[in-house]
Amino acid sequence: MSVVADSAAAPADATDMVCVRAVHKVFGHGHDAVHVLKGVDLDVARGEVTVILGPSGSGKSTLLRCINELEEITGGSVMVGGDLMGYRKDAKGTLHRLHPKAVAKQRSRIGMVFQRFHLFPHMTALENIMEAPVQVRGMSKKAAKQRALELIERVGLSDRMEHYPAQLSGGQQQRVAIARALAMDPELMLFDEPTSALDPELVGEVLSVMQDLAKSGMTMIVVTHEIGFAREVADHVVFMDDGVIVESGPPSAVLDDPKEDRTKDFLSHVL
Ligand code: ADP
Ligand code: MG
Repeated sequence: MSVVADSAAAPADATDMVCVRAVHKVFGHGHDAVHVLKGVDLDVARGEVTVILGPSGSGKSTLLRCINELEEITGGSVMVGGDLMGYRKDAKGTLHRLHPKAVAKQRSRIGMVFQRFHLFPHMTALENIMEAPVQVRGMSKKAAKQRALELIERVGLSDRMEHYPAQLSGGQQQRVAIARALAMDPELMLFDEPTSALDPELVGEVLSVMQDLAKSGMTMIVVTHEIGFAREVADHVVFMDDGVIVESGPPSAVLDDPKEDRTKDFLSHVL
């Protein structure tokens, strides 16, 4: 399978932040190979929010992980902000795999928020937010603290900034995780079921922070089962099943008037 499909040769639309073309992902080899993504195309315009729905095991997390290069794709291409992820082209147009350090640099432009918050347990909320700008970007502690103070206010936790993760609720921890991702000034934010691990009464505060972020113009891809959020915040909704995008469109079309049986069946279980 060629790593970069022919379609990748076409210039990306300048307004597109994310341009996924014919992406395949195979885990393992030979008899043990699992073909998880089977030719995914996805475009997300700058400033837009795309919500990805789909049953467990359909490849949603794998797709996010391929977009930010936590997984190397088996075929196709991923462009973010006009850059081909993971590769560079030489003068003859031949593709070369980037050095892991260069991959990490590309990845640092993309923020990711997981179902589990993964905060550093021995650091306060504020220190968690300051960590990457200081360690990865070499920002001064003073500047990083200034920025962290702004971000913690933005997620409504100024009064909790000296708390350690264990002293915070799940919803508060997830809001710190969002602020921590924002501290690297990402151009794109990926959310992988950010509210699935939360008690129901804590879901709203996290979705509300995400909604504010969307309003501020952040480009976002959100995997979630929160249909209300999809309806209210998404510009596009994508339904995935078995490694392919089955259906996509504006929320009203996909959620209220789905065309495909697999989408109808899925929605009948979550709505
Ligand atoms: P979703 O997020 O939609 O629930 P995932 O992307 O997590 O789906 O997983 C899709 C499929 O890929 C599942 O069958 C899963 O077992 C498989 N998978 C995910 N990661 C790996 C891996 N590292 N090795 C092998 N199989 C994997
Ligand atoms: Mg998942």
